[in-house]
Amino acid sequence: MYDFLVVGAGFAGSVLAERLADAGKKVLIVDKRNHIGGNAYDFYNEHGILVHKYGPHIFHTNSEKVFHYLSRFTEWRQYEHRVLASVDGQLLPMPINATTINKFFGVNLNHDQVESFLAQRRNSFDRITNSQEVILAKVGTELYEKFFRGYTKKQWDLYPEQLDASVCARIPIRTNADDRYFTDIYQVMPAQGYTKMFERMLNHPNISVLLQTDYKKIQEEVRFNELIYTGPIDEYFDYVRGPLPYRSLRFDFETHEVSTYQPVATINYPNSYDFTRVTEFKYLTGQTHARTTIVKEFPTANGDPYYPIPTPENAEAYERYKAEIGKYDAVHFAGRLGTYRYYNMDQVVAQSLTLFNNLMSR
Ligand code: FAD
Repeated sequence: MYDFLVVGAGFAGSVLAERLADAGKKVLIVDKRNHIGGNAYDFYNEHGILVHKYGPHIFHTNSEKVFHYLSRFTEWRQYEHRVLASVDGQLLPMPINATTINKFFGVNLNHDQVESFLAQRRNSFDRITNSQEVILAKVGTELYEKFFRGYTKKQWDLYPEQLDASVCARIPIRTNADDRYFTDIYQVMPAQGYTKMFERMLNHPNISVLLQTDYKKIQEEVRFNELIYTGPIDEYFDYVRGPLPYRSLRFDFETHEVSTYQPVATINYPNSYDFTRVTEFKYLTGQTHARTTIVKEFPTANGDPYYPIPTPENAEAYERYKAEIGKYDAVHFAGRLGTYRYYNMDQVVAQSLTLFNNLMSR
């Protein structure tokens, strides 16, 4: 008899399982995959290189609470991510900064001059309603066309004007020369990898782990009081309110007989090829090895659900499922798929810690 059955052993499920076990609850956590860690799962490939099975995962947060909580289960290595975009035969910093603007337009402007240069190019809107307007209002047409339009179309199979403003609002534009991809206070990677961190989280006498198990197949056999569900919410309700759209990816891994493949961790290809970006794992992990493994990401409509697609229509469709949730006191939804939110790892951890507090204060 378990107090909680937790579905999904990614960040959402593992944080909740760990917190509940620590509070004395008996927890069974199940995942249909053959490993823990969800989409953050990493492993050593056949060449001995640490890779992320579901695409590159870079940890960054401004939340001291999230950082300190996870620090119980891992040591960290400092890591600042850097990205270049391949545009018109040049490799230019992303997010767009003063270097990008100088090289792209063939000028030599300082910080203040970049500011007024952009001010002349910006489009103005009374009200920003979508991702296209977000970018046009920040940088104007030329940069929008070369750096954002094609990338967004490949990534989402939607043009920026079809996507919520929140999607492109995540991407900063800088007038200085800061070429870091993130500016969060904590920019770190788990020193022994994500999977090791998950192993430590779930290594608790009150937690049982069951892999390669779809919870629907065992829910009649297992006795439990409450359910925490971190899979796709529409699947939980057998799609009664219609399927929620997700975007998926195909990952092509390549190992090369060189110690370094490209000049930075990630290169974006906004206007060429079918893949969006190429990432070289050794930058992220700090591993030293004579060979190197890269991954190319090909966005697709079919496959594992990775990204909830943030459009106004889909937000409405999710609201229809949310109305269902209220009917069940003993079922709690968490995580990227359980709450249909385009959340980063740290946001999922914060959301799970909040849910745990709510459960304990009932
Ligand atoms: P998941 O990790 O998806 O875990 C859900 C688990 O539930 C899965 O393991 C699934 O198998 C299991 N499950 C589903 N249904 C069932 C069922 N019926 N029975 C049993 N098990 C089930 N975030 C960052 O902060 N930084 C990044 O750099 C970053 N990069 C990313 C790159 C890619 C390509 C992707 C796709 C995401 C990235 N993210 C990144 C986001 C990050 O992956 C998520 O925030 C995080 O993994 C979400 O955790 P979760 O527990 O909600 O979901």
